[in-house]
Amino acid sequence: MQYYDNVVELIGNTPLVKLRNVTAGIQATVLAKVEYLNPGGSVKDRIALRMVEDAEAAGSLRPGGTIVEPTSGNTGVGLALVAQLKGYKCVFVCPDKVSQDKQDVLRAYGAEVVVCPTAVAPEDPRSYYNVSDRLAREIPGAWKPNQYSNPANPRSHYETTGPELWEQTGGGLTHFVAGVGTGGTISGIGRYLKEASDGRVKVVGADPEGSVYSGGTGRPYLVEGVGEDFWPETYDKSVADQIIEVSDKASFEMTRRLAREEGLLVGGSCGMAVVAALEVARAAGPDDVIVVLLPDSGKGYLSKIFNDAWMARYGFLSAGGDEPTVADAL
Ligand code: PMP
Repeated sequence: MQYYDNVVELIGNTPLVKLRNVTAGIQATVLAKVEYLNPGGSVKDRIALRMVEDAEAAGSLRPGGTIVEPTSGNTGVGLALVAQLKGYKCVFVCPDKVSQDKQDVLRAYGAEVVVCPTAVAPEDPRSYYNVSDRLAREIPGAWKPNQYSNPANPRSHYETTGPELWEQTGGGLTHFVAGVGTGGTISGIGRYLKEASDGRVKVVGADPEGSVYSGGTGRPYLVEGVGEDFWPETYDKSVADQIIEVSDKASFEMTRRLAREEGLLVGGSCGMAVVAALEVARAAGPDDVIVVLLPDSGKGYLSKIFNDAWMARYGFLSAGGDEPTVADAL
């Protein structure tokens, strides 16, 4: 009999797949690390597991405890999976820009979800950072992973995702591209790849227009899970060689193309990272191998990025640009 003992054992060891169509005219090889194939549907399963294991070892999370975290959804799903296996409760706090679909997913896994306004400063008592701090203080047995300052976040990538990429490419990758949210992904993987390659691998961050990593002030943008209005401790400024700024429009257009042309139904931060990866690939040589990490699935964005009315409302669809459909002819 061949089976895994539990769903948490399915975390990691995700495949690399070559992008064949959105790369038209590009000579370098562009490979996508498909993180939606983790059991919770995103890269965040990896950090959830490592943060919980660390907290148990440190004694800050005890049997019957409650995990309280501000999360845009993916970290919540990862934590909920791990919490179920280990018997913890979960309370997640998220900003109201997070899609209803994503909130419903967290509730489906048995977590409680508290929704806070997006359009307030981080220091405002109603901000999702502050609400989660208060809940962590008030709920008995509460533990807050704090993915924005927990060293287990970048370390999970240094210990798993980085070595996976190095092995999967036989040490042959030349560039690594990832979106930056907490910075855990790029800092952990980037550091591992720099060390493994003696500094040869170039590390490139992708950032939404308006976010601090590409010189912005935190001006609002619609792509979810990436960009910040402050500098998290989990982001190691010394790792990225370059940060590429990408607009919401370009991110969402590429997200749609990945579904239609590559069969990859992925989230908006994936489209953003691929826009940056293609920019890197265009400037790279024919022997270069660019790896781009795709953090999550597109299923949580069906009512946004994949919805024409939503896209049109924000000016992301070019008028009359769509192909005529069979239904149009009826
Ligand atoms: N994309 C999505 C959809 C995410 O949820 C996150 C995590 N916030 C990221 C990208 C960025 O990853 P990291 O936090 O490791 O920088």
